[in-house]
Amino acid sequence: MSAVPSARVFLDHNATSPLRPQARTAMLDALDQGGNASSIHADGRAARLRVEQARREIAALTGADPRGIVFTSGASEANALALHPALEVRGRRVTCDVLLVGAGEHPSVLHGHRFAPEQVETLPLDTDGRIDLEALDTALVRHAADGRQVLVSVMLANNETGILQPVAEAAALAHARGAVLHCDAVQGAGRIALDIAALGADFLTLSSHKLGGPQGAGALVAGHGDNIVRQPLIAGGGQERGRRAGTENVAALAGFGAAARTAEAELSGEGARLAGLRDRLEAGLVACVPDAIVLGANVARLPNTVCVIFPGIKAETLVIALDLAHLSVSAGSACSSGKVGASHVLKAMGLADEHARGAIRLSLGWSSTDEDIDAALAAIGRTVPRVRNRPERAA
Ligand code: PLP
Repeated sequence: MSAVPSARVFLDHNATSPLRPQARTAMLDALDQGGNASSIHADGRAARLRVEQARREIAALTGADPRGIVFTSGASEANALALHPALEVRGRRVTCDVLLVGAGEHPSVLHGHRFAPEQVETLPLDTDGRIDLEALDTALVRHAADGRQVLVSVMLANNETGILQPVAEAAALAHARGAVLHCDAVQGAGRIALDIAALGADFLTLSSHKLGGPQGAGALVAGHGDNIVRQPLIAGGGQERGRRAGTENVAALAGFGAAARTAEAELSGEGARLAGLRDRLEAGLVACVPDAIVLGANVARLPNTVCVIFPGIKAETLVIALDLAHLSVSAGSACSSGKVGASHVLKAMGLADEHARGAIRLSLGWSSTDEDIDAALAAIGRTVPRVRNRPERAA
């Protein structure tokens, strides 16, 4: 995959966004320099400077205190770190008995991690794909009445549909009942404005590769500099102030920081540009396949994501056919691609199995162009009728 124009069109930024040139430069500089960020000599200090610069860049992207940022190997690890019963939030030590998660969360949240399976409760989505706030409040009231401490985890934007979740409202409800809120902000970061205080999140998860940094880096960001998970996931060394042991991946963090800085600097213009491309893509899809169903078209969502169902076609079949037509897109969530099955997100929105199996996701990003949209529409316009006419399509 290359950001350089090629015969292929890449519309799968929610799976991974191509490396931004600024991130590449920062990484190469860091790799050329070397050094262990814990060493006290000049090489180590230079590496440390890069890590701390990245920390400030992530803090600037999220409006957070740099002291509250713990770098990890990615968002899956940041989620696994955050989802632990023993927390310290705004100076208060809490031990959570229950984890409430939205039904459309990423599998790395649904798993519940360091909560026992019986401690994890799933909250329904409404038919617009948003977490049901009434159900959340009912659960919070019930647990508070029984003296149970709750951690709530609600994502910022869904990775399959792009639909924005009411995180600030969920946080207000949670805090009013003494609960703590974690937000997986992976798909929103760098695509919409992000302010951890406005969201009211006590912890926030980020991933580098969704915003044009390298794969294998992420962060858990605290809503207050002193908020911590009291049990590290990886213990031993003193890195990350004892919150995550292991030698820092300096080059990856430098790339993550540069990508965050660039995404933030370009945010206002880029949001409108991507929304324009997305709207043209959606209008073109419906024009060439009139029974196509665009999900979430009437609700607040990311400017870069299109989730579309072509009735009567299985998503995997279409993704493979589009791949042969040089177009990279995903069937449902890319993290679970390769796994054939109906999307848990679309099923939670109440879609029939047949539709939940048929959604494909086209996701745009910093490298997407007008020409990409034209080429994608041409490929889809040619491919959908051909796939539909195959005898095995209903299998
Ligand atoms: N959370 C969400 C919403 C995601 O979309 C993803 C990846 O697709 C992850 C978490 C996991 O991110 P990572 O690949 O950095 O582990």
